[in-house]
Formats: sequence, structure tokens, C-alpha cells
Amino acid sequence: MSIARTIVVAGAGIGGLTAALALAERGFRVIIMEKAGRLEEAGAGLQLSPNASRILIELGLQDRLQPRAVTPDAISIMSASSGGEIARLPLGEEAALRAGAPWWVLHRADLQAALQAQVNDNPAIELRLGCQFDDVVTDAGGVIVSQRSGTTRHSEPALALIGADGVWSAVRQRLFPHIQPQFSGLIAWRGTFETAQFPSGHTSQQVQLWMGSNAHLVAYPISGGRQINIVAILQGAWNRPGWSADGDATEIRNAFMARHWPGPAGMMIGAVDSWRKWALFTVSHDADWNSGPVTLLGDAAHAMLPFAAQGAGMAIEDAAVLAQCLGSMADAPAALARYAGLRRARVMRVQATARRNGTIYHLGGVAALLRDSVIRAIGAQRVLARQDWIYRWRP
Ligand SMILES: Cc1cc2nc3c(=O)[nH]c(=O)nc-3n(C[C@H](O)[C@H](O)[C@H](O)COP(=O)(O)OP(=O)(O)OC[C@H]3O[C@@H](n4cnc5c(N)ncnc54)[C@H](O)[C@@H]3O)c2cc1C
Repeated sequence: MSIARTIVVAGAGIGGLTAALALAERGFRVIIMEKAGRLEEAGAGLQLSPNASRILIELGLQDRLQPRAVTPDAISIMSASSGGEIARLPLGEEAALRAGAPWWVLHRADLQAALQAQVNDNPAIELRLGCQFDDVVTDAGGVIVSQRSGTTRHSEPALALIGADGVWSAVRQRLFPHIQPQFSGLIAWRGTFETAQFPSGHTSQQVQLWMGSNAHLVAYPISGGRQINIVAILQGAWNRPGWSADGDATEIRNAFMARHWPGPAGMMIGAVDSWRKWALFTVSHDADWNSGPVTLLGDAAHAMLPFAAQGAGMAIEDAAVLAQCLGSMADAPAALARYAGLRRARVMRVQATARRNGTIYHLGGVAALLRDSVIRAIGAQRVLARQDWIYRWRP
């Protein structure tokens, strides 16, 4: 296929793989350069709300994802000071009908594996593992992308380059070196435990959100319900890049014990044997995304705090819009400018929502009591309906 129909994607994360599938569906040949030698099993749970699951289903992934995903019945919002439930937001079939697509929670590795299998089945997509994006120059026909595999260097001409290479993006560094990820002062700890080792009732088909002073905890079933995934968020100064540093189980248990969190939350923390932690970084919402035939997508463009559970969702939405724009306009720089223009306001709003949620979740004392009463007064259905602008979105 001609260079005029070839797109290079740097990064085979959730955003890059989805973009490749969406672009191939629009008739492009896609080369994905991924620096890892194999796609890691790393990561834990991801929530995929209907705005994202709809796109994956339209790309033909339902059969691969459904058996691995869990559809939670509800989001249970819990108070860490009283141990009581503040509200239960109904999900399940009812939410799927309202939004027109399912709500899924699943292991990140399962989503990545399903996307990779779909990519491998598509002859229009070439996934190059162990192949690092190195540099890009533009020319009259588009871009020339340099890649490195071990000591070998190679150049690839293409119509456009998509930087889907995550929060520490080398493409962004090449285009906009002044934009650096900002540390949020928050650290996420993740772990899993087997559902069977915990009394039933505490580990039902729900997403549990526990809110406490300067800390919160999210737990939900993954791997077809066999495991519970926990993510605990705490303040801290440790801020190394990466997703999978070893976390000291004693440190996190002590941190929650010192806060006197109630029994069920403490039991879940105690049930995890092996913890991983990662420092939460964001990329400014008003940063640049585009330069001629090169653009950014997903975390490379707009890494956000995970408190709206939309990091993967926004990368998936970006992929769908990007493919639509490139598929419908002959001029690649104009198509990429249109893509960034269509995405920016929504992504900024979601980033702001995630930041605000973090502040609300971590309130303490009288402010927390007030928050809990407001949530009760608004009522579960209306709390959920306030997020319809996120979940009912369509490309
Ligand atoms: C290993 C890993 C574990 C994660 N675990 C969690 C988790 O537990 N919970 C959570 O909420 N989110 C997690 N995330 C983040 C989450 O997947 C992303 O926020 C979201 O899906 C957006 O995806 P993305 O495709 O934009 O970026 P990412 O998922 O970060 O993917 C970027 C990809 O680009 C590749 N890459 C980087 N530099 C280069 C280069 N120079 N050349 C070629 N390839 C390059 C990376 O190896 C990676 O595969 C994890 C991400 C990774 C990479």
C-alpha cells in the first residue's frame, strides 16, 4: 500500500492498539512501533464505561472481551469514617440500557491481550515489538519516522505519525520538549486477591469506592470475577516514573491502620500479598498536541488523574475520533488539527472532573460530613445521571 495510506503509531498501549484497529477499518495500513519486547502483563484493573466499551464493541472486540469482563451491579460509595454506605449507584443492565453499551471492569492485561489478538488477525496492521520510536522529520509527503531495534536503526516513510507512547512520551518530548508531566503529590497502590478467600457479601459484583481523609480506595472484581482488584490512593513524595514499583505491604497496611479505616476496608488491604505502586503524573490540559502530520493521543497528550476512571476511556475515544478525521479528509495535517480540535474541550472537562473528584473523595472532618449529606440528598440516580455527559458520548 502507498505511503499516502500508511500511518505509524508509536506505542502499543490501549490507545495505540485501538487507534491501529480504527485506522485499519478506514482503509489505512498501520505500523505500530512498540519499545517493549512483549506487551507486559503489568497493570491491574481498568473500568470501561459505555463511552469506551461501545467503541471496542464496534471494532469487533465483544467476543474477546465479554468472557473476561465483569459487569458490576452498582457503585457503592462508602464512608471510611463511619463504615456505612452513603449511596449505591445502579449499574448493570439498567445502566447499559440507558447508555446503549455495557459497563465493564476487567484486568488491564486482558484488555491489552484482546486488542493485540485483534491486531494480529488484521493483515493491514504490522506490530513491531522491541522497536523504539527515535525521531521524526516531516517532508512533502508526510513524515519519516526513525526507529531503533537493539543496535539497528531504520526509517519509515508515512503519511502521519501518532504518538500513543504514554505519559513519558518520546514523541511529545521530540515535538514539545517544554511540556513535562507534573507530579500530583499522590501515589496509587494496586493489588489483587482471590475472591474465594474473602467472605461473600464484601466482594460482590460491585465497584466499591471508600472515601476517607486524604486517602481513598477503589475495589472491584476482575478476571471474570475470580479476583478483586484494589487501588488505594495516598499522598506522598515518592515520584519515580513507571507503573510497577514494588510496594511494601507493611507500609500500606500501617498507613490505613493509622487512619482507623473500618473492618471491611482493612480486611481487603490485609488480603493483598503483593503490592505495586506508581506515582500519579498528569500532562497539562492546555498543552499542544499537534505539529503538522504528527499528533499525540491518550496519556501522551493528556495523562489525567484516575479519579474519573477515564484514562483508558479517553485514549479509546481519541482513537475513534482520530480515525474518523484521517479517514474523511485527504490532507493529514488538517485532519489531525480537526481531531485535536474535536477532542480538546471534552478531555479538559474530564481532566477537571477527575481532579475535582480527588478533592471531594479526600475531604475530612465536617467537610466530609457535609459531602456525605449532599450525596444522600441528591440521591443515587441523580448522582449517576450527572455523569451522563461522559458515558453517553458517541464519536
Ligand atoms: C505497563 C503499564 C501498566 C499500567 N497499569 C495501569 C493500572 O494498573 N491502572 C491504570 O489505571 N492504568 C494503568 N496504566 C495506564 C493506562 O493503561 C493508561 O493510562 C491508559 O490506558 C492510556 O493508554 P495509552 O495507550 O495512552 O498509554 P500507555 O498505556 O501508557 O501505553 C504507552 C505505550 O507506549 C510504549 N512506548 C513508550 N515509549 C515508546 C517509544 N519511544 N517507542 C515505542 N513505544 C513506546 C510503552 O511501552 C507502552 O506500551 C498502565 C500503563 C502501562 C504501560
